[in-house]
Amino acid sequence: MSTPAGMDKSSLTPKELVITDLGGQVLQGGYEPSSELKVHLGLYAADSEIGAVVHAHTPYTRVLEGRISSWVTEVSRKFGVVEEWQGVTSVPYQKPGSQELADAIAEKFKKSSDHTLVMGGHGVVAVGISLTQAWHRVETIERLAMMGYKWLVLNHLD
Ligand SMILES: [Zn+2]
Repeated sequence: MSTPAGMDKSSLTPKELVITDLGGQVLQGGYEPSSELKVHLGLYAADSEIGAVVHAHTPYTRVLEGRISSWVTEVSRKFGVVEEWQGVTSVPYQKPGSQELADAIAEKFKKSSDHTLVMGGHGVVAVGISLTQAWHRVETIERLAMMGYKWLVLNHLD
């Protein structure tokens, strides 16, 4: 199941979701699936433990993306945050929607125990055994990035 491409995600209804098979063939729904469907399918193919993939364009994570791993670690330690944080990995920018991006992400997750990945110049992908877990991981990295950004700004004001 995928969100449709090019539609405002905040106003979607269940009928607008697109159901595909694991090869990307649309089985149900009147819209094109997400332009990042290849990322989702590549991750499901790479690891049978993955039950859900969430991709989002998270603004604070984008701002800190070049230093996100060190900032997440710093913020986690400084503020004692995050019970099940596994860490974050990243891939450099690749054209959105491309097979190269999907392959780079699948390969990176295969080589890492991390469950969250920053897509350079683009956004975040998180995997989980459930949609709730994957979504929680996206929310967590964005919250940590927001805290890191604010901490950085406030310390530069002194
Ligand atoms: Zn995207």
